[in-house]
Amino acid sequence: MAGRIKAEDVALVKERASIEDVVRQHVTLRNAGPGSLKGLCPFHDEKTPSFTVRPAVGSYHCFGCGEGGDVIDFVRKVDHLDFTEAVERLAVSSGVELHYEEGGGPRQGEAPGRRARLVEAHRAAAEFYGDALITLGEARQGRDFLRGKGFDGAAAKRFGVGYAPVGERT
Ligand SMILES: [Zn+2]
Repeated sequence: MAGRIKAEDVALVKERASIEDVVRQHVTLRNAGPGSLKGLCPFHDEKTPSFTVRPAVGSYHCFGCGEGGDVIDFVRKVDHLDFTEAVERLAVSSGVELHYEEGGGPRQGEAPGRRARLVEAHRAAAEFYGDALITLGEARQGRDFLRGKGFDGAAAKRFGVGYAPVGERT
């Protein structure tokens, strides 16, 4: 799995991606004074524009619901993406080549949702294969093999040993 996107690439994406262009794909903006554009907020229902973009600063803010941030925050929220996905999408549209940290260090501030889903998927899979080892008739050979090696059920569970039913093998 790819590691974290390098910080300098994230900075480059922020610099190159025009928040005005990105927001205009979702919101009709009109001039609202020097350096400021206004439109109807995509994050809450409103009839009078209180969603403000400052292209020079690279930020947006809604005075109605309080949403605000930079171009990456906007893409995350409007398209329901995690940080990495939002940066990847903006990198494509702004022509930035991304580099990733090697070693997959802590992905702090990034994609906690994706990590949690992966952990849950692994846990569910381990449980499924663990149950299969204990309960399935076709897993008897596996059980006998483990018992022959001195593994009882508790040890199999502790080491996360499971059995993949024939139909579930990939
Ligand atoms: Zn709003």
